Amino acid sequence: MSDRRSEQMGISRRGFLKETTAVVATGAAGGLISTSSAAAGPAIDRTSDSKAPARITNLSVDICVIGGGGAGVISAVSALEAGVTNIVVLEKMKQTGGTTKGVMGMFSVESPVQKRQGIRHSVDECFKYHMDMHSWYCNAKLVRNWMTSTGNVVEWLEKKGIEFGEVVPFTHERLFATHHSTKTGGTGQAVMQAMLKILKENKIEVRTETRVKKLLTNARGDVIGVEATHGSEELRITAKAVIIGTGSISASDKLKARFYPGEDQSNVYIMGAQPFATGDGLIMAEEIGAASTHISTLFIGPHGHNTDESVGTLMRRPNLIKVNRLGYRFVDEAIGVTRNFPWMNCLALDRQPDKVCYVLIDHATLKEFQKTKKSYALFEAMGGPNWLEELDKGIVAEEKKGRAKVADTWDVIARYIGCDPEILKNTITQYNSFCENKYDAEFLKDPAYLLPLTTPPYYAFQGYSGIDTCIGGLRTNHNLEVVNKKETPIKGLYAGGIVVGNWLGIGYGFFGSEFSFTTYSAFAAGKNAAKFVLNKA
Ligand SMILES: Cc1cc2nc3c(=O)[nH]c(=O)nc-3n(C[C@H](O)[C@H](O)[C@H](O)COP(=O)(O)OP(=O)(O)OC[C@H]3O[C@@H](n4cnc5c(N)ncnc54)[C@H](O)[C@@H]3O)c2cc1C
Repeated sequence: MSDRRSEQMGISRRGFLKETTAVVATGAAGGLISTSSAAAGPAIDRTSDSKAPARITNLSVDICVIGGGGAGVISAVSALEAGVTNIVVLEKMKQTGGTTKGVMGMFSVESPVQKRQGIRHSVDECFKYHMDMHSWYCNAKLVRNWMTSTGNVVEWLEKKGIEFGEVVPFTHERLFATHHSTKTGGTGQAVMQAMLKILKENKIEVRTETRVKKLLTNARGDVIGVEATHGSEELRITAKAVIIGTGSISASDKLKARFYPGEDQSNVYIMGAQPFATGDGLIMAEEIGAASTHISTLFIGPHGHNTDESVGTLMRRPNLIKVNRLGYRFVDEAIGVTRNFPWMNCLALDRQPDKVCYVLIDHATLKEFQKTKKSYALFEAMGGPNWLEELDKGIVAEEKKGRAKVADTWDVIARYIGCDPEILKNTITQYNSFCENKYDAEFLKDPAYLLPLTTPPYYAFQGYSGIDTCIGGLRTNHNLEVVNKKETPIKGLYAGGIVVGNWLGIGYGFFGSEFSFTTYSAFAAGKNAAKFVLNKA
């Protein structure tokens, strides 16, 4: 969805027009200082969809934060604690929270919560694991700073009243117990509430329905403020530092086409795309010379696009066999539960012809699943509590839509897939022998998940990889300063949250890495921006 559409969804202009033009200073401890009012000020590039004559308001703050999601509000609180009180947070939607509202949990290591539970993973082992997992295809200094700070950030959040529950591992193999979530769930919501409360108590204004459209620079290229729109009002805000916390590019078709070049965009399916995630921060920063970096991807799947969720949940089970359009296996299907890499199934799937796979199961296993009701994989809750009972109906519905095939022979299934029947039958015969020998000679899948396919009817489900979120795009250095193409910091410009890239490779990391990095990077960006501002004063 475009910016314009997001704006239409989020802005109630009529209410705002009743305000006086001056945005009042909200007291000694911060707020905006209005420096001019109606029709004054410089000519502004008007991309707003309003036909009404714009009022132009000039304002001045020390720090302007763009985005009222997790990164935005955390960076504002951090800057406040570091001694800057004249801060404004601008959020384009009607409500704050962004994707952070949906966050369930976060990664942390050497946190006080883990220490209380006697969990002894170290920062060093997690750093090494992360860097190896990403083939060092990221900014190692930035990752090191993040890893060494996650525990401190949890401690900081606890001091703000966030109550974490039991820390758990995310995979079945219990490799790393690093996943933190609040006792009542809804970690993102809890953090938002705590931060907004602090901002309110300190009279820091969080202006909703205010879309930043441009970064302002001086002759040297340093950032000196922003231009924003609020309904028909145009705002020109000068600031000693600006922090970008605008979130993901997930809903921008243009940016997706750029970062996933040459792809059939209908196969780049972003499950967690929210309409406001249009990559504004990246676009604005690039306009003033900022460098970009790769997009990293949290893949969840495989599943059919918009598929019946009970079938989607079945497809993600590690016990099923996955073949590509040629009829060959291409992945250790259990990798998501036996190792710490649930997204890698989909990375492998993304390399297959047409980015499609077929997930196969026989009738005996299907019925066994429905009888025993055991949970095998991550995200099974996404199917709902009764997904196994709803499965038969779901399969019929998927077959009607052409996304599933039920047949008594592999020849019919091969025709459905469009592959050579002999290749498919060889794949099945070989896989069944692996099951019998309890040894996957091809991809070393854990024998616990090897189940033969011998009892017709056989089922084939068409699956694609689903991207949960696109992470990154904007390049910063290890101090969260946005850099130009020569890797030189752009003075006065900082970023935090998932707009920032280069801390992951092309995939994901420990589960909950996004919110972990968001909390850390926003905290650091706020602190570093405050230091910059105070040094300038
Ligand atoms: C459904 C869902 C569930 C998730 N669950 C988890 C989880 O459990 N654990 C985890 O680690 N991660 C999770 N994530 C990832 C999550 O996106 C990040 O962890 C993190 O919350 C991102 O914070 P952010 O502040 O960078 O972005 P957001 O929270 O998305 O905030 C960005 C804000 O900037 C605003 N904005 C954008 N452009 C402008 C502009 N031009 N002017 C003004 N405002 C603007 C947006 O409207 C938005 O409010 C989840 C994501 C989704 C979609």
